[in-house]
Amino acid sequence: QVQQLAVEPEERNRPVAADILNFIDGRFVKGGSGATFPNIDPATGRETGRVHEATREDVDRAVAAAKRALTGPWGKMTTAERIRLIAAVADEIERRSEDFLDAEVADTGKPRAVAAHIDVPRGASNFRMFADIVTTLPTESFGTPTPDGSGAINYAVRKPKGVIAVVCPWNFPLLLMTWKVGPALACGNTVIVKPSEETPRTAALLGEVMDAVGMPTGVYNVVHGFGPGAAGEFLTAHPDVDAITFTGETGTGQAIMKQAAVGVRDISFELGGKNPAIVFADADLEKAAEGISRAAFLNSGQVCLGTERVYVEQSVFEPFVAKLAAAARALKPGDKGDPHYLGPMISEEHRQKVLGYYERAIAEGAIAVTGGGVPNVDAAAAGGFWVEPTIWTGLAHDSTVMREEIFGPCCGIIPFDTEDDAISWANDTDYGLCATVWTENLSRAHRVAAAMSVGVCWVNCWFLRDLRTAFGGSGQSGIGREGGAHSLEFYTELENICVKI
Ligand code: NAD
Repeated sequence: QVQQLAVEPEERNRPVAADILNFIDGRFVKGGSGATFPNIDPATGRETGRVHEATREDVDRAVAAAKRALTGPWGKMTTAERIRLIAAVADEIERRSEDFLDAEVADTGKPRAVAAHIDVPRGASNFRMFADIVTTLPTESFGTPTPDGSGAINYAVRKPKGVIAVVCPWNFPLLLMTWKVGPALACGNTVIVKPSEETPRTAALLGEVMDAVGMPTGVYNVVHGFGPGAAGEFLTAHPDVDAITFTGETGTGQAIMKQAAVGVRDISFELGGKNPAIVFADADLEKAAEGISRAAFLNSGQVCLGTERVYVEQSVFEPFVAKLAAAARALKPGDKGDPHYLGPMISEEHRQKVLGYYERAIAEGAIAVTGGGVPNVDAAAAGGFWVEPTIWTGLAHDSTVMREEIFGPCCGIIPFDTEDDAISWANDTDYGLCATVWTENLSRAHRVAAAMSVGVCWVNCWFLRDLRTAFGGSGQSGIGREGGAHSLEFYTELENICVKI
């Protein structure tokens, strides 16, 4: 369960760090080349600091430090000692929650309440929960008969996999990074994090936390920079990295998979989605519209689990569209003081991509029930990367806009006549991350949920997460499952020991 932090309701504008440094072998350092790139606040378009880019040599030093740490004090700790340190990391994140909130809001422009209720508390629980799981998870053992009658015992021991590369996206920077760093460290690995170039602050801040709790040097490292031909590629192609855990676009996953093939390194991928919602006529329409409006618009639609395709049973199509449109119209892009504040797109480049789909939708025959363009905002927000929350009807199921991941605050709504049609349209995608099903019919809920080709299906809810459950995508939405004991499968090597009695 995610605990909620007490947040001050008003926006705070405390200064954030002007220099965002790499964290290598326990020290904050500039990049070897001296190169920096700007950190931009997407809500204003203004530069808030400079990010110090890691060179190939910096990445080499980080990997070497992580490798050394495996056999240093960290590698020699008992599980209990390690778990105490990890719990202290969770406590320190909570103690410094305002700093983490400032950093996350400066990087993403997201509403402070979203960062306070989702990103930062989850950042802390990702450490605490995996620390608990590691201490309670058993391994298997078998008594094995032998021809001489004395028998043998087989039992398994779990060992850290080694040096883990953690490559992260920008939409929930602290949450998605700690979702991997928490279990990796709980299992005794060491990590090098490559945060998104758009959102480097919280990964760097976590270096201060590691320092404060006395984490041995080299256990947690951060290298800043871009993907291809830069820090991301230097890290994932590095021969001394034992496994790569990645969250991001499917195309990037393909590039990283090639890099991981050299040396046959293990991978865990959480990738893109084009997630469907199915609303049956027997659903509680209020609840469905409220849930789908969160699924389409939370974090301005920049959520891998977000809903971009909505299939609604014909008889309730019009009232449902009206309810969702009303929810969309209530949102206020650009107005930080409004309780319905909707944050910006992460960058101008991403905004252009989203607006490209807005134009494409109309070209493909859509009617924009609401939105479809750029909102008018106050002078203070004028440089931000805003788009309107947008709902379309009239799109064909096989249109580009209904097939490709947009990653913006938008969805297309299509009516259906039969349950079979709804299921086959929902599953007709190369992706398979998640789906939501809205019905008050118990049998239908179970039947349709089980028929979804996805990693996660929610019934009458969305983004209700229990961190112990399996999380991941099927199809082009990912490889492997993380969460609870599933994370430990990835972050450990299982050795079987056979003892002849
Ligand atoms: P992205 O793939 O562009 O970038 C993710 C990270 O990969 C960044 O740190 C980037 O620098 C790095 N990178 C890029 N090219 C690389 C390369 N060749 N080698 C090594 N590293 C490289 O993704 P994004 O735009 O930051 O995030 C949005 C995407 O993430 C969406 O597709 C979204 O669906 C997906 N996502 C998935 C999940 C999930 O759990 N399935 C969660 C959040 C986001």
